[in-house]
Amino acid sequence: MKTIIPPQQAVLQALGPVRGGGGWRLCQYCLRREVPQGMLLYHLLTRELLLLSPAEWDAALTLPELQARWFIVPEDTPEQEHADLVRWALRAMHKPGPVTDFTILPTTDCNARCFYCYEAGRPRRMMSQETAAQAATHIITQSSGKPVRLRWFGGEPLMNHAAIDAICATLASQGVPFTSSMTTNGLLFTPETIRTAVDCWKLRAVQITLDGTEQTYNRTKAYVGADGSPFCTVLANIRSLLEAGVHVAIRLNVGAHNAPDMLQLAELLARELRGAGSLNVYARALFSTDSWHCAADPGAPLAQLTGRLCELGLQPPARLQRELPLNQCMADSGRARVILPDGRLTLCEHHTEDEIIGHIASPELDRPLMKAWAQQEAPIPACATCPLYPECNRLSKCDTLERCTDESRRAALRSRERSMLAEYQRYLNSQG
Ligand code: SF4
Ligand code: SF4
Repeated sequence: MKTIIPPQQAVLQALGPVRGGGGWRLCQYCLRREVPQGMLLYHLLTRELLLLSPAEWDAALTLPELQARWFIVPEDTPEQEHADLVRWALRAMHKPGPVTDFTILPTTDCNARCFYCYEAGRPRRMMSQETAAQAATHIITQSSGKPVRLRWFGGEPLMNHAAIDAICATLASQGVPFTSSMTTNGLLFTPETIRTAVDCWKLRAVQITLDGTEQTYNRTKAYVGADGSPFCTVLANIRSLLEAGVHVAIRLNVGAHNAPDMLQLAELLARELRGAGSLNVYARALFSTDSWHCAADPGAPLAQLTGRLCELGLQPPARLQRELPLNQCMADSGRARVILPDGRLTLCEHHTEDEIIGHIASPELDRPLMKAWAQQEAPIPACATCPLYPECNRLSKCDTLERCTDESRRAALRSRERSMLAEYQRYLNSQG
């Protein structure tokens, strides 16, 4: 038996020794994947990844080591109760630290007019230089000397370059260690902006959405006042960002209007961008707060597209998280804030006009509202036997939460299996 990733000790301590006896079975939170050397076992609650030889796998139900580490459990073990207990204990032990993650909206204005935009109809606000200065002071105070992660969001953040410059210049002059990332449509990057972004904004990653191949993309984005083909400009900018050492995540928004086109786009991206730098291309169903923009369940086209992206080497497997995730996103992390263009604070980037928890100029925060944002959805019947339950965090107030379906669960499990194989390969490489 080889340990590829050790267990999270805090989880094992919270679980204590396996109790009971009689018949034994594989824990429902244990995923398995056959490899030439035997069987990989991954425990989603304890986070341990093991390799068993074929002989060990044959005798798995009798191995005391597997029983001691909760891979093998008594037949009548109530796993969901154990997972709840562990998560409760870990949350109780967690000490809130300073706020170090800031999503900043330099503007809610945008140069695109996507038909599905959830911000359509909202006021278009620009962050002033005065608010940018206040935002920098707020960040310095809140982060208490810890390294800061900034994320530029909008609207289109590049439409207010000056606010980004001002915040970064103040942090740099005060010796605050920071890096940044950006969610952008990518059209307004130029060679000069990319240099400034890397050197002064410490930009390390961007997320750019593509809605199809050239015609579909240009029609969907409907940019205001753009010259030439925005699709070609954005593709060239993605290449420049990759070559400048910026990680690029390309999100493919899949809806009824573009599903057939997306497979062609995947092939094009592989031809144009594969090997140019650190790239991850992934597909998501197009969603608005009112309805799915898909004629039918998006599961099947999404699964097909994701499969092709993996085959093309455009979607590197994610690392397995070493610690049990206890939150869904920034909204319930306890260490993140969203700063709006006028200095108001929220916890979720999708709320620019409501769900306000405070202002950068005031120490007062709406604590009851913050607590409401940490509220998780109640489990559904399928959770009782779902292997993903230990790491499933679904916020009741999140309005972009994808529906949990058989296909979404299958996709998540396929993704974990790919990650198990990739972790094992890394282990083999490290052994020479
Ligand atoms: S993935 Fe779905 S079924 Fe599984 S634990 Fe989460 S909500 Fe429940
Ligand atoms: S939309 Fe949902 S996932 Fe995104 S920040 Fe808000 S709560 Fe989190």
